[in-house]
Parts: sequence; C-alpha cells; structure tokens
Amino acid sequence: MTPPPAPTMAAESNANHGGRHRHVLLFPLPYQGHINPMFRLAGVLHARGFAVTVFHTHFNAPDPARHPHYRFVPVPDVVSGPDPVAIEDVVAHIVSIGGACEAAFRDLLAAVLEEYSRDAVACLVADAHLLPIFQAANCLGVPTLALRTSSAVSFACFTAYPMLCEKGYLPVQDSQLDTPVVELPPYRVRDLMDIGKDGHEVLCEMMARAVAAVKGSSGLILNTFDALERRELEGLRQDLAVPVFDIGPLHKFSPAGESSLLRQDRSCLEWLDAWPPASVLYVSFGSLACMSPRDLEETAWGIAGSCVPFLWVVRPGMVRGSAHQELPKGFEAATRGRGMVVGWAPQEELLRHRAVGGFWTHNGWNSTTESVCEGVPMLCRPYFGDQMGNARYVEHVWRVGLELVGELEMGRVEAAIRRLMTGRDGAEMRSRAGQLKKAAEECTGKGGTSCLAIDKLVTHMMSL
Ligand code: UDP
Repeated sequence: MTPPPAPTMAAESNANHGGRHRHVLLFPLPYQGHINPMFRLAGVLHARGFAVTVFHTHFNAPDPARHPHYRFVPVPDVVSGPDPVAIEDVVAHIVSIGGACEAAFRDLLAAVLEEYSRDAVACLVADAHLLPIFQAANCLGVPTLALRTSSAVSFACFTAYPMLCEKGYLPVQDSQLDTPVVELPPYRVRDLMDIGKDGHEVLCEMMARAVAAVKGSSGLILNTFDALERRELEGLRQDLAVPVFDIGPLHKFSPAGESSLLRQDRSCLEWLDAWPPASVLYVSFGSLACMSPRDLEETAWGIAGSCVPFLWVVRPGMVRGSAHQELPKGFEAATRGRGMVVGWAPQEELLRHRAVGGFWTHNGWNSTTESVCEGVPMLCRPYFGDQMGNARYVEHVWRVGLELVGELEMGRVEAAIRRLMTGRDGAEMRSRAGQLKKAAEECTGKGGTSCLAIDKLVTHMMSL
C-alpha cells in the first residue's frame, strides 16, 4: 500500500471536522462503464474535502500515476482464466468478483482502519454489484453507500425482477417481445434485461445481490438527475427504505478521461475542428459490446452509403472472433476525406464538440447521459443489459433518438443515419436534446437538484 497523500487545500475545506470522517473509501466494479462514474464521484467527493482511498482488483486496475491525489489499495482476487468477453461470462464474472476478493479486502480494510483510525473514515462507497464487499465492511463497522451506475428505472427493474419472473415476462420468449410490461411502462418485454434461458439463473442472482447490497447499505447513489427521471426516482424512494441521492450527470461535475482503460486517441478532436456544426456522426458501441463480422460489414457499408461525415470507434475486440478488426475492403477508399476511424476516443470531449450532430450508440448508461447532456440525438442499437431499456427511454420518453431494430442491413442503416443527421425528425430530436442539455445544466448548476443532492450526500456521509 502506498501512504496516503497529504490532503489538498480542498481536502482541508469541509470534510475535516477535526480529523473526523475525512476519509472516504471507494471500491469500483472493474469495468469501464462502472469505473468512470466511480472516479467521477471520487472527483466530486475530493473537491468537497474528502481524502480518497480506492480499493481495486488487479483485473482492469486503474493507473495510480494518473490520480496523484488518491491513494490506491490493490486487492488480490482469486478469479482466473481469460478476460470475460461474452455477456454471459461478464455476468458470471460480476457475480463472482466480490466474493473472490472478500477475504483479502477484509484484511486490507482492517489495516487501513487501524492506520487512519476508525473515526477518520466516513464510509465506503462500493459498486452495488459487490455485495460481499459491503458485508465485509459492515462486519468491520464501516458504514456503506451503494453506487449504481445506471438509471433509476434500471434499478427499479432489478427490484422488480422476481415479480417479472413470476408473472412470466422472464426469461424472455421470442413470441412475447412486443408485449407491454404493464408494471413498468413504457417497457416492453424486449426492453428487459435478459441473457437467455441458460444465463437466467445467474442474472437473477446478480440482480438479487445488487438489491441486497443497496438495502443493506446506508444509501443509494445514482448517476441520474431529477429532470431526466423524476417519476422513476419518486417510485424508487417509495420502494426503498434507504435515502436515494440523484447526483448526476456526474461527468458534468468531474471528467473521467483519466480513468479510461484504453488510450484515447485525441487526434480526432482536431479532425473534428474542420467540420461544420452538427454535421458529423459519432459511432461507438462502448467498452464491451461485440458484433458479428457480418454486422461490421453492414454497419460499414451503411455508414459509407449515408454520405454523412463520421468518426467511428472500432475498439480492439469489438468484432467477435477476431482481435484485429479489419474494415471491409474498399471502405477506406469509399469514405476517404469524410471519415475517421480510431481505436478509442475521448468521448466526453468529443460529444461536446460543435461538429458532432448525432451519436450512433449501444446506449450504455454513461454514453446515453453523456450524449443527452451535450444535446446530441442518438441512433440506438442496444446489445444487452440495461441498454435496451435505455434505448426505449431515449426513443419513447425523452424522444431524443430513434432505435435501429431488427437485422443490421446496409440500406436500413443508411436510411436511419440520414433520418437522424439530415431529416426533419433528426432536427426535432436535436432540439429536444438541446432542452435536456439545458435541464442538465440547471440540475448541476448552483442550487440545482443534483448540487443539492451532493450537499445532502456529504452531510449524510459525515453523519454516519
Ligand atoms: N468511452 C470512451 N471512449 C470511447 C468509447 C467510450 O472514453 O471511445 C467511455 C464513455 O465516455 C463512457 C464509457 O467509456 O463513459 C462507456 O460506458 P457506457 O456505460 O456507455 O458503456 P459500457 O462500456 O459500460 O458498455
């Protein structure tokens, strides 16, 4: 363990009550979509005066050199084998990871408590997927808060999962895809989280553990905001006995570039400078989604056929069964002068760039909120997990995007891109996205709901 750095000026300001409660301990789930919001939260809490200690696994470990103000505590785990790629493997990994490092975490936490003194530690904030970590902390008398890195409605789905199974919505049957889920409007069966019959049990376990972690903690932190999910937040508050802090969108308070696991190619920002406002389509499917080689072909030729300028993130490992993604022969020549392909991009900055006019996304929650908050309308192509539900909200509730459903086929891709980027529909979606951007600015501005929720969270943490 490295020694804790001296508190910065900010750290002296408001979490230092005579040395009491000045440390916050964090434990992210080691996946990019979970790491980013946890580090954004770290930035928020550090700015409010907390000294930050990050416990982390060896898998997808953060780089301490990029966060000189935080202390890092590596926690050995006993998970072995290749990195999970298929979604069933990712779910199984998520379920096992907390247990795999529980014993080591308990010892390391005990050492940290002794070193800081128990009184100087406010609480542990851990990803809701790490139930054994919550239990270990509680055993040592450390209060816990749960961070759920997706939407309020996605957590409502977690709590409703046993009921949805009982009522026969789950596991999803192909004949029922368009059946409305009357208990969770406007979801249809196809919008629910599901990984097929074989993975059903492990998925149920993952949900149940996250719900247990939240219910056994002293509060739930959500990366969402009042103007986006007021009704859903109200519902959660009625159902849960713990306080809910809607402090998002966290990237508006604290950027996450430094927690990127892959090197971000910043040259694309300069490339964007040359394009007129709202003219470029940004295409990225996040850190986990994989497509078939055939879908890659249809995507590429659909993009080429649309004649729209584009910036496309083709991540290593994004195409099933090949480590090196080969774009179709002739694609480069067909799009020369109006496209750029990178391995990983500075997404937050890119979505803020005036040239970006649309985002073809897999609708991970971070990507969705980053897009919404920059007023960028979306072409939605969800793959798994909460992504289908997020896409449903984008298209149907906030009406800032359209979903590309069914088989990927170049003609349909082309038409959908044109509709988003140059059609009247697209312009209307852009205008509504602009209103959400304003609402996000208000929520995160002085006196806004998210700012007030952060105040409440800090007060709560100091009182635990
Ligand atoms: N991201 C990035 N560069 C990229 C693509 C994504 O920095 O080229 C970031 C993005 O800003 C977001 C995160 O990676 O914060 C992806 O999280 P999300 O929840 O959208 O999807 P996941 O990767 O978990 O499926």
